[in-house]
Amino acid sequence: MNQMYDVIIIGCGEAGIYAGYELSLKNPSLKIGVFEQGRDIYKRSCPIVAKKVKQCINCKVCDTMCGFGGAGAFSDGKFNFTTEFGGWLTDYMDHDEVMELIHYVDDVNVAHGATTNYFSTTTPEAQALAKKALEFDLHLLQAQCKHLGTEKNLMILTNIYEDLKDKMDFHFNTAISEIKTCSEGYELVTEKGDIARCQYLIAAPGRSGAEWFANQCKNLGIKLINNQVDIGVRVELPARVFEHITDVVYESKLVYRTKQYGDSVRTFCMNPYGHVVAENVEGINTVNGHSYSDASLRSENTNFALLVSNRFTEPFDEPYRYGKHIASLSNMLAGGVLVQRFGDLVKGVRTNEHRLSQSFVKPTLTAAIPGDLSLALPKRQLDDIIEMIYALDKVAPGTANYDTLLYGAEVKFYSSRLELSHELETKLPGFFAIGDGAGTTRGLAQAGASGIKAARAVLSRIK
Ligand SMILES: Cc1cc2nc3c(=O)[nH]c(=O)nc-3n(C[C@H](O)[C@H](O)[C@H](O)COP(=O)(O)OP(=O)(O)OC[C@H]3O[C@@H](n4cnc5c(N)ncnc54)[C@H](O)[C@@H]3O)c2cc1C
Repeated sequence: MNQMYDVIIIGCGEAGIYAGYELSLKNPSLKIGVFEQGRDIYKRSCPIVAKKVKQCINCKVCDTMCGFGGAGAFSDGKFNFTTEFGGWLTDYMDHDEVMELIHYVDDVNVAHGATTNYFSTTTPEAQALAKKALEFDLHLLQAQCKHLGTEKNLMILTNIYEDLKDKMDFHFNTAISEIKTCSEGYELVTEKGDIARCQYLIAAPGRSGAEWFANQCKNLGIKLINNQVDIGVRVELPARVFEHITDVVYESKLVYRTKQYGDSVRTFCMNPYGHVVAENVEGINTVNGHSYSDASLRSENTNFALLVSNRFTEPFDEPYRYGKHIASLSNMLAGGVLVQRFGDLVKGVRTNEHRLSQSFVKPTLTAAIPGDLSLALPKRQLDDIIEMIYALDKVAPGTANYDTLLYGAEVKFYSSRLELSHELETKLPGFFAIGDGAGTTRGLAQAGASGIKAARAVLSRIK
């Protein structure tokens, strides 16, 4: 292969898909190449989910994280209409523009089968919850949220793929290994040594490609700004404990500042009646969750992450490495994801097979190995999490029950942030960087929005 394209998109996650969608819709004559290290939407299958293996076998390319649909393909598709979380696009454009882009992405989803129903935080019930939380110094972030549902999210992505597959060249199972400049614009070298060139380049490598992308940017002289890493656990408890909250707002984003350290801890990615899953980020097993919209596929548990944000000051500038190191400790101890009962953690004893079998809460991630989180997580983050669980227990009594399950480590890596213009263009003309891999977003809505933004910038220049 030695091809020339008008536009090349690296990565076929939410950001890359919407960039491609907008480009092909508004200018069908464009020659667009999409390079994705993972497989197409029909072929993605994690061996754990397919029940071929029990533990993560570190596939070279993780089917859960990579392929058409990216990291969000098997997510339960919580689509948040907000600039308060899910990314930092308001650092590049104003709030109204980001909201317009988010609504645009939602319209595309609806046109491909998404629901029009959503949960709101402005209802009297939601406002009462926010007031109650405030009494305990817990702050409920305000956002309209759509729950697409794991199976529907996949169906929407499949419909989009069918829509796009003849409008651009998709190169699946094709990782880009190097980005270079050339007289036409950019030259990309694939892992197999093939070359493709383009005038405009939109890089959307997501979190799974973040480390690789940061190195490419360094080589190209593009400045990277340090980002944070969030470290914590995934909590799993009976759905009834949070029902009075999840029935009203679906996902509650509660933020708390711990009294002991003054650290910010927040609930994240809440999955009512959901399932906990393992995910592989560049060879490290971390944990995540999702839930189906079809009631027959639901579990009896709700899961959510509790995350402590860590920002580092000089001289340390590798939050990514720090997060990976912590996740690798729980991997070292458990051979994968570790699970512990909250009561055992507080008491200072390891959860073992026997103790776990006595638990009233049955783990939905059966591959998790019972163990001791205090041997894997730093004391500070662990203290923060324990304090937050007691705070949550006041608004959702039962959260601090003995059998509440904690899976670890959940680590949210945020790619180093690039220095970008308001159009999400790097200092190299025609080279745009979008989505989670550019460190500008951390959720479906803003990742999609960033794709539309970059596509519109390219379209305006081609005109
Ligand atoms: C289990 C799970 C559940 C989630 N649930 C939600 C949710 O409910 N709501 C929400 O808002 N967000 C959720 N998220 C986060 C959301 O999925 C991401 O924010 C979003 O997918 C980011 O989109 P992206 O396009 O930037 O990156 P990604 O979706 O990560 O896509 C990047 C793509 O680039 C490819 N790639 C990387 N490097 C290369 C390379 N060198 N060459 C070729 N291809 C490459 C990867 O294979 C990948 O497919 C969830 C994430 C996970 C993992």
